Amino acid sequence: MIQVEHLTKSYGSHYALSDVSFAIKEGEVVGFLGPNGAGKSTTMNILTGCLSSNSGTVRVNGADILKDPAEAKRQIGYLPEQPPLYTDMTVEEYLGFVYDLKRCTLPKKEHITEICETVRIADVRRRLIRNLSKGYRQRVGIAQALVGNPPVLIFDEPTVGLDPKQIIEVRNLLRTLGKTHTVILSTHILPEVQAICDRLLIISEGHIVADKPTEELTRVIRDSRRYRLKVAGPQKEVLGLLRGIPGILRAEAQAERDGESSFTIESAAGTDVRGPLFFALAERGWPVYGLEAVHTDLEDVFLQLVEHGGELPAEPAAKPRRK
Ligand code: ADP
Ligand code: MG
Repeated sequence: MIQVEHLTKSYGSHYALSDVSFAIKEGEVVGFLGPNGAGKSTTMNILTGCLSSNSGTVRVNGADILKDPAEAKRQIGYLPEQPPLYTDMTVEEYLGFVYDLKRCTLPKKEHITEICETVRIADVRRRLIRNLSKGYRQRVGIAQALVGNPPVLIFDEPTVGLDPKQIIEVRNLLRTLGKTHTVILSTHILPEVQAICDRLLIISEGHIVADKPTEELTRVIRDSRRYRLKVAGPQKEVLGLLRGIPGILRAEAQAERDGESSFTIESAAGTDVRGPLFFALAERGWPVYGLEAVHTDLEDVFLQLVEHGGELPAEPAAKPRRK
């Protein structure tokens, strides 16, 4: 449905995107995940024809965004980071305006009514957009993307600035839309895409660092065994001992204070090192003052991906690398 090949975009000497390629199949719900400044909005703006790239191609359902922009754009509904709402219009007027702009040919009244029902804004359709809450405004933004029934929907950080209740409502809406559309949505929050997307494209500093089914990332996070350890013992010697314990993949010293040393350790998936760890330290007469599991978050996943060249360490060995 969407083919992106070798996209590069620079602002002056700064590369916002470097050689980005990916393909999205019809019906997929894909999350663009990355920290602020990673290049998510830039990619989406290029995909939707709102921004030009320095090089590379984008095809949407076969139509090249540069050679056949009208056809490519007809396939896409886009909710940019800043939704283009005219706040002096009522919801109904605004959607009618978007309808005309997109040169839609579906029966106007029915089409707009149907969209208002899908995104649940029927009750405010005669209100001025300016007077709507942020949650409602965001849904009006989603509504304008749906005008013309495009098969592909692209949403840039659709839940930013919403309160927890509104976030859940918008997420549910996105999940519903995902059943009947090809969807790309961006976020810098891992649980957001975990809940909705089939697949995640992780983007960092203008590069795609991973392209994985969501379950694979979820599994890594679930199986991750990282601990923070505090030991009353000499840092260097304790570190040497830790590194020799079977099942410990990595151990780093954190700090030493008043004879108490802190470490972070990482164990192989499927191995519980806590027992051997305890006995090894006890044998040397170095008491454990603390051992706590460290929750894996997006930042850790990034670090792991970058460190392992795009592969997740807990993956079964000898799996061919996807390029
Ligand atoms: P994201 O959406 O992932 O937060 P963006 O795509 O907005 O990231 O930005 C990617 C990079 O490009 C950032 O380093 C940002 O500062 C830079 N950038 C974006 N837009 C412009 C612009 N109009 N002029 C200069 N630099 C820009
Ligand atoms: Mg952005």
